[in-house]
Amino acid sequence: MTRTHKKQTRSILLLIAWLTLLVSLGGCNQANTNQQTSVENSPKAQEASQPSAKTKIVTTFLPMYLLTKAVAGDAADVEILVPPGTEVHEYQATPDNVKAIATANILVKNGLGLEEFLENTVKNAQNPQLVEIDASQGIKPLNEISPVETTTAAEKDHDHEHADGNPHVWLDPVLAKQQVMNIRDGLIAADAKNKAIYTANAAAYIQELDKLNSEFQQALQTKPSCTFVTFHDAYPYLAQRYNLKQVAVVQIPEDQLSPTDVQTVVNTVKKYKVKALFSEPGVDNKLLKSLSQDLNLKLQTLDSLEAGETDPQYYFKAMRLNLQTLAVACQ
Ligand SMILES: [Zn+2]
Repeated sequence: MTRTHKKQTRSILLLIAWLTLLVSLGGCNQANTNQQTSVENSPKAQEASQPSAKTKIVTTFLPMYLLTKAVAGDAADVEILVPPGTEVHEYQATPDNVKAIATANILVKNGLGLEEFLENTVKNAQNPQLVEIDASQGIKPLNEISPVETTTAAEKDHDHEHADGNPHVWLDPVLAKQQVMNIRDGLIAADAKNKAIYTANAAAYIQELDKLNSEFQQALQTKPSCTFVTFHDAYPYLAQRYNLKQVAVVQIPEDQLSPTDVQTVVNTVKKYKVKALFSEPGVDNKLLKSLSQDLNLKLQTLDSLEAGETDPQYYFKAMRLNLQTLAVACQ
């Protein structure tokens, strides 16, 4: 999967500090900023204006597409607004997005402040019939930020982005289950004729999520409080669920690391006895590489599922790879 991170002008590397047990972290001071790719990359975006007898559901970005498609199956047409591989956090809507929403019956979003682009887009679409499903309804967000170590520019971006807590709930299989239930209930409320299908599909997917959850529990229970560093604040829910720890918030400009930045990260890693350094699939960043060498830590990847395949099974494929990576890194 092509990631766009590497092309970004103000891409920032972010190391988050996850402290022990009940430290609740929030926020979405993501490392990756948006480099928009063309919407033509999204096969789903093209279907926007085609008439269909089926209920038309638009979803915001890949994880919402995967969970919604799993529930809807073939009973509804499911589209995706943000092309996979395009950074969702700072996404700017396109005219095609407005068209897609204008002709949709249902909109499924992650919520928790992730899809900032939606507000104006939905307004511009002028679709009074649109039913909006907030997949994170009822989920208590992790709000508290624990920036243990930060470099100079870190705080500015921080403030405005965390009003709704950290949005990456889909990366915890248990909360993903909650999202599937929310989506299922929303679809049934908006499209009752397909209730039986939505119910059955959701049950099957939830069963798989339960299985995934047990796999995570089993594989990580022998590695309590494994501490790692990542550049994208995407895993606080996962870490909290399985008793992992992440350390240090450090934002680093992509083009240049000052000696002070490097020193801050090195000190942090020593201080918290970090076991692993995680980048993202498709990210090829020289600074990350040299940093991991300086730290004498292997640079591995965790998948936040913001890019990937559009098959609902991709969720399990990617999460099992994440589990494998974590289990090995935490040994
Ligand atoms: Zn993210």
